[in-house]
Amino acid sequence: SHPAPGEPMEIITAVRGFKDILPGETERWQFVEETARKIFSDFGFKEIRVPVLEKTELFRRSIGETTDIVEKEMYTFEDRGGESLTLRPEATASVMRAFLEHSLHGGDSVSKLFTFGPMFRRERPQKGRYRQFHQINVELLGSADPLVDAEVIHMLMLFLERVHLKNVSLEINSLGCPGCRPAFRKVLGQFLSQKEKDLCEDCRRRLGTNPLRVFDCKVEGCRAAVSSAPLLIDYICAGCAGHFREVQEGLKVLETGFSLNPRMVRGLDYYTKTTFEVTTKALGAQNAVAGGGRYDRLVKDLGGPEVPGIGFAAGVERLISLLPEGMEGVSRSPDLYVAALGPEAKKIAFRLCNGIRRQGFLAETDYSGRSLKSQMKRSDRLGAGYTLLIGENEIREGKALLRNMKDGSQGSIGLEGAEAQLLSLLKAR
Ligand code: AMP
Repeated sequence: SHPAPGEPMEIITAVRGFKDILPGETERWQFVEETARKIFSDFGFKEIRVPVLEKTELFRRSIGETTDIVEKEMYTFEDRGGESLTLRPEATASVMRAFLEHSLHGGDSVSKLFTFGPMFRRERPQKGRYRQFHQINVELLGSADPLVDAEVIHMLMLFLERVHLKNVSLEINSLGCPGCRPAFRKVLGQFLSQKEKDLCEDCRRRLGTNPLRVFDCKVEGCRAAVSSAPLLIDYICAGCAGHFREVQEGLKVLETGFSLNPRMVRGLDYYTKTTFEVTTKALGAQNAVAGGGRYDRLVKDLGGPEVPGIGFAAGVERLISLLPEGMEGVSRSPDLYVAALGPEAKKIAFRLCNGIRRQGFLAETDYSGRSLKSQMKRSDRLGAGYTLLIGENEIREGKALLRNMKDGSQGSIGLEGAEAQLLSLLKAR
């Protein structure tokens, strides 16, 4: 709506739960991403980039119809062409789609992939919980070996250590397989139906279809109901139990500490066998920093061949908020600041700065016509290595004053050939 005459126009703000990441903060993001890139590539993972928008069907089929995400959190809309599209609430489904669409399973028997990017879930925003948030995702396809589970979990823990995350705990569980889970589902369903009146509306509705979801419900009554419920881990088949044992042995060999959490089910339906979650005490209510698990049925359920897989997602906002102070100090400062006064000096600064930048150095100046004194101040504030001063006197004499900002020493250099002289100084730094 238009403001009344004379009223100032109101600014347009970001959408609730969507956040800007500002300079000063972006350096921390780069640090986290570069650390991930380095470690993942040491383990043989390659980057994949997938779109943020997918056909709604992809998420319905993979994440599961009776999960919170699909039931109430997806940003789904009808495209102008009448097609139902959804902003991705997680990355695994998209990576699986790309994997199948481009037959990535055709070449190497094992595909190791990672991706970074925004996810979208319409949850209630609060500290550490946003509607657009970012994840670092890892997926390993084509191996069912329990040592691979241990290796992927180990890589996650190594990554968290390298981004200086302290006081983290790793919890693991096994969710069984299509061979053993249905029988447990029945047992659990029977147990919970005796407590039906204590359950929230969602869980009551899911009793018949997906009683395991009750383990993931935050409502007090539901938590109390599952506290004495039978546990899946006591019902898994010999194959799943053996797999889980070997995962634990692998983790011990790699000296990766963990504890068992038989009540952890994760929020997505596609998991089989190993699941894991990393939490930290430093975060308050939203204490999960990463989670993942094995998904041996997912590729098949999406219409592909039988390809087992395992992966995880780490929440970048939460990692960033836990980075120790001082990590923002990696922001780059100018190598050279040119303080120029007057039209002639401005022209020289313009040419000089751009020449120096072409050689890979950070040169800064300003065209505001501020006094030399205030430009010097700005140079200091930006943390420049050198400041070159060009005022009217300097133009007249064909010389400029060069100050080494670190030790305060200064001297004059000729304006003729100044660029070459400055470059050799900067290269020697
Ligand atoms: P999930 O796919 O739900 O297991 O999420 C994996 C990780 O993403 C979590 O451990 C969090 O660190 C992060 N995460 C999930 N949802 C949000 C959200 N709404 N806001 C910020 N981070 C989130």
